[in-house]
Amino acid sequence: MAAALDDNLTAVLHGIEDLRLEQRPIPEIADDEVLLAMDSVGICGSDVHYLAHGRIGHFILTKPMIIGHEAAGVVAKLGKKVTNLKVGDRVAIEPGVPCRYCDHCKQGKYNLCADMVFCATPPYDGNLTRYYKHAADFCFKLPDHVSMEEGALLEPLSVGVHACRRGGVGLGSKVLILGAGPIGLVTLLAAQSMGASEILITDLVQSRLDVAKELGATHTLLLSVDQSAEDVSKKVHEIMTEEPNISIDCCGAESSARLAIFATRSGGVVVIVGMGAPEIKLPLINALAREVDIRGIFRYCNDYSAALALVASGKVNVKRLVTQHFDITETDKAFETSRRGLGGAIKVMIHVQPRDTNN
Ligand code: NAD
Ligand code: ZN
Repeated sequence: MAAALDDNLTAVLHGIEDLRLEQRPIPEIADDEVLLAMDSVGICGSDVHYLAHGRIGHFILTKPMIIGHEAAGVVAKLGKKVTNLKVGDRVAIEPGVPCRYCDHCKQGKYNLCADMVFCATPPYDGNLTRYYKHAADFCFKLPDHVSMEEGALLEPLSVGVHACRRGGVGLGSKVLILGAGPIGLVTLLAAQSMGASEILITDLVQSRLDVAKELGATHTLLLSVDQSAEDVSKKVHEIMTEEPNISIDCCGAESSARLAIFATRSGGVVVIVGMGAPEIKLPLINALAREVDIRGIFRYCNDYSAALALVASGKVNVKRLVTQHFDITETDKAFETSRRGLGGAIKVMIHVQPRDTNN
């Protein structure tokens, strides 16, 4: 059941360590938009980063911004020109809407659009709110058996799908994944579903590796910060039956990107997903002399429908990633749980509707 039409409780980030719940007007929709009664919103590391630092790189919070971008909701109202959805449809929200007109958009690489409007990336509002409007063609209707939480999890899963596609993961791939946080874990799930036959995943925290193992990682490797990338690379080669042909960094540490290069088989691919320091030291000559390609990824692009198909078909089970649930009125507690990693937190889910209303 949607909230009353005069209640639009919204989580607004006003500045560093200043996240407030307040009433906002219910948005007016344009002809190509839908009004959504929001349901589930996952907390992402970037949300926590904006709360703690007020910025990520050149995206700087200069005015109050609604937080949240991993989300699903129910269509409450249709713009005049919307034909792909109807009122009552449960949808996952792809949170970035590009301009559709620039060369990147026309070439289909819309994630590179300079005019992207992306939820909870300053200056644009996110969707941890009771009522939110969005472009109808960036909403993905969920089949009845896919829950709203799973719909929200399509956001990180799309990052994993995009990373694996950029890396060329396919049948028989041997994949090294560095970092077993939410992004490393969805990358693991995507790589499995795309046919990888052997996956080694690393982390500094054993409990995260335990989850990775539970999700089906072939091998896990616990690292400590003082190890050299060259030494760890040898260890990776000892553990795996063959050197990995694709390595995907999902933590952003310099040592991890270095390890990814050293460990990857000649002619292979390194994908950098993790965003750490803007400049780091890499063994570039090692990479070039062995024709190891280094590719970055930025979010996702045409990956939502594949992510949804993986979940809807049962090939991928993202549910294990959700460790805690909070109501929107407990947003503070939810962020605290996520940022401190309380209770083994991986993905913390905020419910705008009473939990399971739309399961
Ligand atoms: P997270 O911080 O929750 O998880 C990172 C994990 O890596 C943790 O479990 C941590 O213990 C582990 N780790 C840290 N240093 C390590 C090391 N040297 N070796 C191995 N493991 C190490 O973050 P997340 O939400 O999983 O996101 C991962 C990274 O991906 C972040 O840097 C995030 O900014 C980035 N990201 C990038 C994109 C993109 O579009 N490129 C999209 C989403 C997230
Ligand atoms: Zn564009």
